[in-house]
Amino acid sequence: MIVIMSPNTPTEEIIILKQKIESENNVSINVIQGKEYCILGLIGDTTKVDASKIRANEFVENVEKVQQPYKLVNRLFHPEDTVINVKDASIGGEKLAVIAGPCSVESEEQIVEIAKNVKDSGAKFLRGGAFKPRTSPYSFQGLGTEGLELLKVARQETGLPIVTEIMSEDMIDKFVEDVDVIQVGARNMQNFELLKQLGKTRKPILLKRGLSSTIEELLMSAEYIMSEGNENVILCERGIRTFETYTRNTLDLSAIPAIKKLSHLPVIVDPSHAAGLWWMVEPLAKAAVAVGADGLMIEVHNDPANAKCDGQQSIKSKVFQNLMTDINKMVDMKLDKLQDAVKL
Ligand code: PEP
Ligand code: MN
Repeated sequence: MIVIMSPNTPTEEIIILKQKIESENNVSINVIQGKEYCILGLIGDTTKVDASKIRANEFVENVEKVQQPYKLVNRLFHPEDTVINVKDASIGGEKLAVIAGPCSVESEEQIVEIAKNVKDSGAKFLRGGAFKPRTSPYSFQGLGTEGLELLKVARQETGLPIVTEIMSEDMIDKFVEDVDVIQVGARNMQNFELLKQLGKTRKPILLKRGLSSTIEELLMSAEYIMSEGNENVILCERGIRTFETYTRNTLDLSAIPAIKKLSHLPVIVDPSHAAGLWWMVEPLAKAAVAVGADGLMIEVHNDPANAKCDGQQSIKSKVFQNLMTDINKMVDMKLDKLQDAVKL
């Protein structure tokens, strides 16, 4: 349930009403203060809350029942888009955030070279797996903590914030110290204990959609993180399992406008894991921008043919550079359109 206060309600009145609702009902209240509006989000069992009694308060504009099981993630609770700042970069809002880099960190030379290339092309974040969730236990599992050290070297060389995947709770302290954005991979999207512990940190969390998860399940997983106090959640559509086998997964582009409608959290698209084919990355990345994604996560490798992981879906730096040129044109066009629309 949310309570929408009338514009310019005095703060004292908001505090009095908040305390009254909390003491009369077994709920806690999240106060969301926008530029003009103020919303009280009731969290807990609201079935017995008497909405008409709250509506009777002279400063209350409206009371609405929230149908969805997620609250903190819900746009109703937070009408403005969330923008997550990471060092000099940001995800969400006007700018398109591009995260690029190899599937996995392989050596200092490899990660530093790719980091410099993607930065030159306009990427704002460097990705690279140190701990890899592989289907086979016999495949390359990543360099582990050595990989984290190499990512830090690449960050120092380029200034790019680093994004890398966490696989277990016991690594949280190390990740909080070393990493700028902690990625929760598709296979861990419903590792609820991991989500709860990450919710206790204040690090930005990049939460990828599970292989067979619905949009609502993705949002509920984000709710796990937010309900522990961490509001810095970025969602990522990376393709889902369907009957189609031509592509590795099926990119669910409709998830982008759906999530933007349902939630205030930024949502990015990973066309590399969605397609599993390097030549499809470019058209899918453009499609993602066209449907309103807040960013992209793209696998880039200097030598895809010899990559230790996901070479078939990694694009070379030159291809990434061309893609960024085209995407920047699309972004500028969209901004022009927006400005025209405002003038009209
Ligand atoms: C990755 O980004 O390296 C990765 C393993 O992705 P996903 O969890 O989406 O499969
Ligand atoms: Mn990969």
